[in-house]
Amino acid sequence: MSKSAGRGKAATGLVVLGEARGRAPGRVRLVGAGPGDPELLTLKALKALQAAQVVVHDGLVPDEILALAPADARRISVAKRKSRHSYAQSEINRMLVAFALEGLEVVRLKGGDPFIFGRGGEELEACRAAGVECEAIPGVTAALAAGASAGAPLTHRGAAQAVTFVTGHAADGQVPDLDWPSLARANHTVAIYMGLTTAGLIAERLMAAGRDGATPSLIVVDASRPHERRVASTLAGLAAAAQGLEGPALLLVGEAMALAQVDAGAYGGYEGAAMEAKA
Ligand code: SAH
Repeated sequence: MSKSAGRGKAATGLVVLGEARGRAPGRVRLVGAGPGDPELLTLKALKALQAAQVVVHDGLVPDEILALAPADARRISVAKRKSRHSYAQSEINRMLVAFALEGLEVVRLKGGDPFIFGRGGEELEACRAAGVECEAIPGVTAALAAGASAGAPLTHRGAAQAVTFVTGHAADGQVPDLDWPSLARANHTVAIYMGLTTAGLIAERLMAAGRDGATPSLIVVDASRPHERRVASTLAGLAAAAQGLEGPALLLVGEAMALAQVDAGAYGGYEGAAMEAKA
């Protein structure tokens, strides 16, 4: 028995190192920062930020939220950049584990929810593999903020019995291999993340699989932020509606989007419902 205990210690050598330095083990918290509006942070996220010694954050997290961490907390941006060095996921994983093993209280701050297209699962696995405590604090994901801003419910009696969150961008930059026939079912909202540049192709696939080209669709750019923009179209017009838009954008396709209140666009066959929503 003592033999196996000894082996256990050797196998968790990193933990022993921490003890030798007399530091309490640190931990990593994967915190959802929400879609942008600081008021959409959870109280738990706020408390985690206030207790952080290191904040490792994405580019989507606004300065007002970063400012909620203590002034002396170290802030590290791992934003994806087109020109300068951007961190590989493996580097981020290693960084989180290393800080926690130093005994630090680490917040990994992510836009929206850490487990919705946020690669939080990979960071969680890395922490588990290293024996580092890791906890997730959920956040308001972009699709929820987009629907709320536009006044368009993602599920709605008689118009949307289900909502599916999908990515519009595969790792190779192409349209992902999704289950198009199931996404094409009527009375169903499809929330597409990272789909602005592939909007036309996504619309084509959905229509080829049988979704009505007249299905109301909505693009919300910068949901819950000061420069939020909402553009309505039909599914057939989604590519045209996406033209010229930039920034983080959520595409919502489904009958319930007829309730959306928008800045621009036309609903075609659903004008009546759109007008009703605006009134
Ligand atoms: N974890 C995040 C998603 C990260 S993937 C979440 O739960 O929201 C990044 C994509 O999220 C963007 O390309 C965009 O599609 C969407 N997104 C994030 N913030 C957004 C916002 N404020 N408005 C619209 N879309 C947003």
